[in-house]
Amino acid sequence: MKPIIIQNSKIPKLLSIFISIYAITLFPFIISRDEMSEETIRHECIHIEQQRELLVIFFYILYVWYWLKGKASGMTNDKAYMNIPFEQEAYRKMYDENYLETRAKHAWKNYT
Ligand SMILES: [Zn+2]
Repeated sequence: MKPIIIQNSKIPKLLSIFISIYAITLFPFIISRDEMSEETIRHECIHIEQQRELLVIFFYILYVWYWLKGKASGMTNDKAYMNIPFEQEAYRKMYDENYLETRAKHAWKNYT
């Protein structure tokens, strides 16, 4: 199943409670405030793969768990977000054009 991309949406802004959200991936949807760059689409597609392999629900449980773990160790909201293994993988690999074709399953575990 291919992701369904929705651009120019108000949803990311409405969800920006703890941190400022530009785009959000809620399998199988990728929703963004405006037109996404190729790199941002790749970043969100990496989250689609992570969610697919964690049956969506375990991705969200782990996502919140890793964020709270960062917060508990004294990180700011933004630092705790950047420290989440799913974000580490997505930010580091979003500029790699071939990444989605070559990515190993559960590659996010390399960033824990
Ligand atoms: Zn992300």
